[in-house]
Formats: sequence, C-alpha cells, structure tokens
Amino acid sequence: MKIKIPEKITEVVNALKQANFEAYLVGGVVRDLLRGMPPEPLDNWDLTTNATPEQIQKIFPESFYENKFGTVTVVVKNKNDKNLLIEATTYRIEGKYSDKRRPDEVKFAKTIFEDLSRRDFTINAIALDIDNQGKVKKIIDPHNGQVDIKNKIIRTVGEPIERFNEDALRLLRAVRFAVVLNFKIEKKTFEAIKKAAFNLTKISAERIRDDFIKIIMSPRAAEGIFLLEDTGLLEYIIPELREGINCIQSPPHRYDVFKHSVLALKKASEMENATLVVRLAALLHDIGKPRTKKVTPERITFYGHQVIGAEMARDILRRLKFSNEVIEGVYKIIINHMFFYDVGKVTESAVRRLIMKMGGLSRMKDLVAVRIADRKATPVPKEKPYKLRHFEYMIEKVSADPIHVTQLDINGNEIMDLLKIQPGPRVGLILNALLAEILDNPQNNKKEILKRRAIELHQLSDEQLKQRRYRIDREIYERDQHFKEKHWIK
Ligand code: ATP
Ligand code: MG
Repeated sequence: MKIKIPEKITEVVNALKQANFEAYLVGGVVRDLLRGMPPEPLDNWDLTTNATPEQIQKIFPESFYENKFGTVTVVVKNKNDKNLLIEATTYRIEGKYSDKRRPDEVKFAKTIFEDLSRRDFTINAIALDIDNQGKVKKIIDPHNGQVDIKNKIIRTVGEPIERFNEDALRLLRAVRFAVVLNFKIEKKTFEAIKKAAFNLTKISAERIRDDFIKIIMSPRAAEGIFLLEDTGLLEYIIPELREGINCIQSPPHRYDVFKHSVLALKKASEMENATLVVRLAALLHDIGKPRTKKVTPERITFYGHQVIGAEMARDILRRLKFSNEVIEGVYKIIINHMFFYDVGKVTESAVRRLIMKMGGLSRMKDLVAVRIADRKATPVPKEKPYKLRHFEYMIEKVSADPIHVTQLDINGNEIMDLLKIQPGPRVGLILNALLAEILDNPQNNKKEILKRRAIELHQLSDEQLKQRRYRIDREIYERDQHFKEKHWIK
C-alpha cells in the first residue's frame, strides 16, 4: 500500500500513541485514499481514538471541543502555514435513538471494532493504522468496505432499516455519496431508504440543506435529483418539484416540467463555474408552471409562472434555510427569466432597466447562464443562439451606464439644497424620477442638466413622481408573446 499520510497528520497520530492511546484514520479521506484519490489540502481528516475528549485536549492544547458527541477538533499548521483541521473522535457506540435524529446519549466504546460498527456505510467504516512514518501498517475493514469501494456500492453497516431508523440523515447521505462518488445504492439499502423516507421530516432544515447543496454542486447534480425522486426523499425536501411530474407542455417542449427542470440543472452543471445560485435557479425556474397551467384549444399556457415561481422558490429556499443572498439571487433570476429579447427590437434603456431590476451586472451573468441552460434543456437547443450573443453584447455596451441613484451626478444633499426641502421621502422620489430619465438617456447624467430637471420635477405631486419612478419595462415585456396577463407586473 503506497498511501503516504501528510506529516502533520502523522504527528497527531504519533502524539496520541506516545501517550499510550490507540489512534486510527477514518472517514471520508480514508475512503478517498482507497479509491485512489489524493486528499485535497482542505480535506477534513477524521481520526478515531480511545482517548476521551478531555485526554485529547490535554495532548493538544490548541484544540477545541464544542459538541457533546465526543469530537475534538485539532488545529495544526500545514507547511504553507494553512490551518489543517483534524477531527478526533473518541470511539463510541450510539445509545438508543428515540427521535430518529440523534442518539439519546453517546456511549464511549472500548474498541475500534465497536466504533466502526456504528458508522453509516461500509465505505465509511474503514480504519487505517499507520506507523510513525505515516505509512499504512494495516487496514481495518470488518465490514468489507474495500470490496464495496471496488464495486462502487453504497451499503449500510448492518441492517439498513435499523440504521436508517436510528438516524434519518443517513437517508440523504446515502444519496449524496451515490451522486458525488458515482456509486450505486445496494438493493436492500435502497429499499430501506424508500421505506424510511418519511423520517427525513425529523431532520433539521440546515442539515438537509447542507447535503442537498453537496448533491446539486456535484457534476452529477441532475442524477442526484432523479435519485432523490426514486428514493422518495424529494417529497420531503422540495415537494413542489414533483408537481411538474406529468405536467405536459406545448411543443417544441417534449419533456414534462419536472424533466425539463432537472435537465436545465444538468445543463447548468455542465457550465464552467456554475454557482449555487445558477444551479438552484435552473432547477427551480419553472417551479410555478404547474400552478399556472391553463389548457386552451390552441395551446397550453403558463402565464405569470415566473412570478408565482419566483415566490415559490423564495418560500422553498427560506424553508431550507438558505442565505438571504442566495434567495434573492434565485428570486430575481426566476422572476426575470422570461425577458423578451430580439435584436433591434429591444432598446438599450430596456436592457439598463433589466440590469437595474436584477440588481447589477454580476446577477446578469447568472440570468444569462440560466437562460442558456433553459434553452439547452429543450429539444431544439442551440448552444448560444445569435439573439443571446447579441444580448450579451448589449449588456456589455450599457454596462457603464448608471442604473442606480447612487450613480447619478447629483445626490440627495444637493437636491435638498437646490429645492430647499427637508430630508424625507420626497428626496428619494425626485432622485428616482431622475434615474428613470437617465436610464433612457444616460448622456444626460450631468449635474447641470439634472439640476434643471430636478426643479421641473419638483412641480409634480408625490403621486405623479411615483409614476415616473421607472416605466415598467414595457419594451422588454409587452412584446413577449407569453405575456398577455398583467399580474406579473410588480
Ligand atoms: P465528507 O467529509 O466527504 O462529507 P465523510 O465520510 O468524511 O465525507 P463526515 O460527515 O465528515 O463524512 O463524517 C465522517 C465519518 O463519520 C463518516 O465517514 C462516517 O464514518 C461517520 N458518520 C458521519 N455521519 C454519520 C451518521 N449520520 N451516521 C453514522 N456515521 C456517520
Ligand atoms: Mg469528512
């Protein structure tokens, strides 16, 4: 066995052994080493030992111990002075589980074998015994994890249904490992997941979110969603996606809404640097379709699905405790994903207004990415059609133009001095009315012109100013054939 363990890790193991404790490497890094994957510098090393948390802390004063499950995090400096985190966990067996989530109590175990038998999957239940040079002395693998690694199989340690009933997070971990490692879930394990799927409702949103992120950030994100559906877990994560199953669309669409959505995620995942926001927006962009579907003699319509969909996506992501930044990004992409664009028909000011609504240029990139993924997920995909390329050119062309009141060549204080008004909402109304004009004519963003216009605008009532704020994207939306109803206007 040629595996060489980094010096710093070896030092930690040696220190424990010198104090007469046992210490083994376990967990994800061992699994990956045995798969022939070199560990990444940022990998979390897991170590298991018969030393208690207090004993571990005595040996490593710089460590911290913050959970009650017997894990102490030892921090060591790597060669390049980067912190390396090593999680040292005391051998344990888990006591009774009554809530399908956490053991009622953690019992420390005496032997490595007991410890390995409480781990979730055979591929995660292998321990490496290393010598003081970091060479592997022995592989302790009582559950034949190496065979499963070789055959690419996810299998629970012990009776699957019992293991899933102990801790329902394992349901999702099974799918996550299958997707990320490109392994298959063994039949009995798979059947047990289906049986126990409902128990996922016992798991906190944050823990579900973290594994869900790993699934959709992987190159096999789309397979991951299909697997969540096949195992019955999707119902307890994003049931709204399942409304798209058998939700048929008019040609040229050939797929139902669910398949189209997952395919859009697949296309997004194949793009370079597709962020979490882009992947989530691709997956959820049509989430509003089933609830807005209408069948007429000529065609099937989904008017306003982007508004309903954006709101549904926001609810879903809030429920899963995503950050506000992620939620807002996804919301804006979805609500704007139907923007109409045709060469020569859409003005520069319309593009500026779209940039403004998206909240800046970086979000525009994400919007374009989702639009491309959406297109590629239909049966008539063109890589990057001429129109979209032209749209990108237009974005670039207007990119330096002001789209925010802070970019005006006049500010609130100057407005107050000029018009002799007190701080208050009217200052904002005037600035926004000015911005609406500058969106149409950026060349007028000059202090003298703005001052003159501000004096003229001051004649208007608050209500009239409000209506001037910015014209609601007529150029972009009115020409959109899909857009005959008004409730999308916000
Ligand atoms: P990665 O770090 O790539 O996510 P990992 O296998 O190291 O994968 P961790 O969550 O870091 O996963 O857990 C380390 C080890 O602890 C696992 O390999 C497994 O042996 C054990 N483990 C983690 N979570 C559970 C669980 N819910 N039930 C049983 N054992 C678990
Ligand atoms: Mg790990």
